[in-house]
Amino acid sequence: MSLFETQNKSAVIVAPHADDEVLAAGGMIARLCEENWDVHVLYGVVSGFHSMNDEASSDADTREEELTHALAVLGCASWKVLFRGQEEHLRLDTVAQSELINFVEAELMIHRPSLAVIPSFGDHHQDHRAMSRACVTSLRPAPDGKRPLVPLVLSYGQSGAAGWGGRAYQFYPTTFVDIGSVLEKKLDAMRCYSSQLVDTPHGRSLEGIRARASVFGALGGCEYAEGFECLRYVI
Ligand SMILES: [Zn+2]
Repeated sequence: MSLFETQNKSAVIVAPHADDEVLAAGGMIARLCEENWDVHVLYGVVSGFHSMNDEASSDADTREEELTHALAVLGCASWKVLFRGQEEHLRLDTVAQSELINFVEAELMIHRPSLAVIPSFGDHHQDHRAMSRACVTSLRPAPDGKRPLVPLVLSYGQSGAAGWGGRAYQFYPTTFVDIGSVLEKKLDAMRCYSSQLVDTPHGRSLEGIRARASVFGALGGCEYAEGFECLRYVI
């Protein structure tokens, strides 16, 4: 499939945790859904979380309820979770890569997306790096066949987490999605993750999300944007 052929309006967004999809690509998801794309969100692990920032706690049920509401705000209803519960909480880096790869590959074969959005390897979070590596393998190039060739692959460095850590953790945004028309929708979706929201200054605060969108907007030539690193674009 190329830019010049009819696009299969299907996208797969990979989120190690419930909230990454909103932080990284909430605006993009909202815009795709407005254009009648089928957007499928794949979560690595949905588990409880004890916040070091405000002492709040959550569990898998809460997180699942939050993600359902957040995706509904964005207009998306298709999602799947690989691991649910505490066993793999913050431990995706200890899971055999083949398990993560098999999960992503199976979903790619079901949805045959034109667009895949995956975590950046330049993230300080071990779960993000584990999922990133698995996604890169799952999306390896080969002629379109039983396993689809996804023509457009973008990675994200949500909330400024990618790029921190020096030269070993690099994230170079090269592709921007104008989210000016859907920024409020993205913020509303993030409000659904009340267990994850923290006060400013922090990348997971509403102010931090708006500021990040403003920075990417400045790089992309618009008021608010989401920034991605393009890993592949078959034209
Ligand atoms: Zn995450």
